[in-house]
Amino acid sequence: MRQDFRVTSGNDLRCKGWRQEGLLRLLENVLAVGEDPDNLVVYAALGRAARDWPSHDAIVRALKTMDEGETLIVQSGKPIGIVRTHPGAPVVIMANCNMVGQWAKAETFYALQDKGLICWGGLTAGDWQYIGSQGVIQGTYEIFMRIAERHFGGDLKGRFVLTAGLGGMGGAQPLAGRMAGAAILVVDVDPERIAKRLAVGYLERRAETLDEALAMIRAATAAGTPLSVGLPGNAAEIYPEILARGIVPDVVTDQTSAHDLVYGYVPATRSLAEARALRKSDPKTLMAESRASIVRHVAAMLGFRDRGAVVFDNGNLIRTQAREGGLARAFDIPIFTEAFLRPLFARAIGPFRWIALSNEQSDIARIDDLLLKLFPANRIITNWVALARRHVPFEGLPARIAWLGHGERTSLALAVNRLVASGELAGPVAFTRDHLDAGAMAHPNIMTENMKDGSDAIADWPLLDAMMLCASKADLVAIHSGGGGYSGYMTSAGVTLIADGTPEAAARLDLSLTNDTALGVMRYADAGYEEALDEAAGKGIGHIRVARR
Ligand code: NAD
Repeated sequence: MRQDFRVTSGNDLRCKGWRQEGLLRLLENVLAVGEDPDNLVVYAALGRAARDWPSHDAIVRALKTMDEGETLIVQSGKPIGIVRTHPGAPVVIMANCNMVGQWAKAETFYALQDKGLICWGGLTAGDWQYIGSQGVIQGTYEIFMRIAERHFGGDLKGRFVLTAGLGGMGGAQPLAGRMAGAAILVVDVDPERIAKRLAVGYLERRAETLDEALAMIRAATAAGTPLSVGLPGNAAEIYPEILARGIVPDVVTDQTSAHDLVYGYVPATRSLAEARALRKSDPKTLMAESRASIVRHVAAMLGFRDRGAVVFDNGNLIRTQAREGGLARAFDIPIFTEAFLRPLFARAIGPFRWIALSNEQSDIARIDDLLLKLFPANRIITNWVALARRHVPFEGLPARIAWLGHGERTSLALAVNRLVASGELAGPVAFTRDHLDAGAMAHPNIMTENMKDGSDAIADWPLLDAMMLCASKADLVAIHSGGGGYSGYMTSAGVTLIADGTPEAAARLDLSLTNDTALGVMRYADAGYEEALDEAAGKGIGHIRVARR
């Protein structure tokens, strides 16, 4: 066990350049803000920063000793070798958790993991891009706001949002709900997760019983006051109980780790401690019990939907698990991407992030100002920056997320690189983005469900994206596929860039960020989305239109 997970501050280099040092600081950061760093788990139940501690230590040694013009190769969280490339090549390339199609099942993954041959990198854990709950908070907030606009006249004031899961990503829900004006109740089976979100300021109150929680929510909705309440309990029991009492929330979703029936979801039939013990002693029984609980959990969500609540799946495969468990109607619940975010993705607007590598919060404040200056007419950005400044606490290295599109990401990053060069920022800044991005992900039950042209299951796009990013001089490029319960469900690509103020960094940022979103627009244009065709024509993106058969 290692107790000390710290981020590094200042400008002293332990590596031979900022490209390597920046990536090392990001690796340290994902552990510092991760859920279970002793086991290298960053988020989503099993998303790991490295395969095991010897692999982690070897990665750190490699980053510290590599020369410019060398590339480190990482396979499922383990460093395989360093090869001579050239200064325009990535510092690190990774392939994490890619299994051959017919073998890409949860059971095969667990067996390979037990043999120490593979690990799952989540989306942002294995490639050291995770920034804590902030990474998903704007996405969650934008979903709540789209619902508010569509159904509740613009905000969620006086509305009751019911959800579950206060883990690495789910922990963003209470704060996003409050920011949208709602009274939000979040159920979690693990009291420690509730305590953690209270401590970091993402959650305001903890209720001891359902009665107490509902009384708090009732008072807040009556007064129109935003409020977030955490309730210890199992969602597969609490949701049906609320439904049985005839209480219908305005909005219902869930962000438990339902994607993983062994290491994520806790069935209502077991205490947390029992479920943890069964992971090793009897995973088969645990899987069956988790699935049965998920069926009850999703049946209650459908019950709320039948009674008029706005219900959506927030990207945790809960509908898929319920359907496999025999609940044929599970897919009556829409997925958040198709329901609320696809028009943004079709323009390649998605979750872009930057991280102050010097650990100085003032750098993020300076970049907030820059963002407002660069995009004064972009309402999503101006609204978000004002809210984030007021409400979002920093965890680990100071970071910010904002949904930016083609050209916007490049102009911001180049302007930041100039600020680094002129000494106006305390140190270099890393840029990255979620894998849940226009050209970067194939995930037929989440990102690419019901694509206009039926191309949901085609994984060529993230692979092309990763190859293109290598050709565009990115600093780190990763190809990920699903592990644990996500095995066989997805493929995605990740990219990181270090803005160290040099002209070489400017070239890397320009090529990589421009081409990354260009591919996103092309992907949606190819699928026939009007927004993408407009964007491609309006911004001179080199999309080639080929007549369909
Ligand atoms: P996590 O493993 O860190 O946290 C999951 C939480 O669910 C834990 O706190 C756990 O105690 C709780 N939980 C498990 N079973 C429960 C039950 N039956 N009742 C109540 N609480 C229960 O996972 P995370 O990083 O927060 O991610 C949650 C899910 O969201 C994952 O499936 C993940 O893949 C998905 N996800 C979605 C998006 C998105 O963009 N929408 C992004 C990232 C992750």
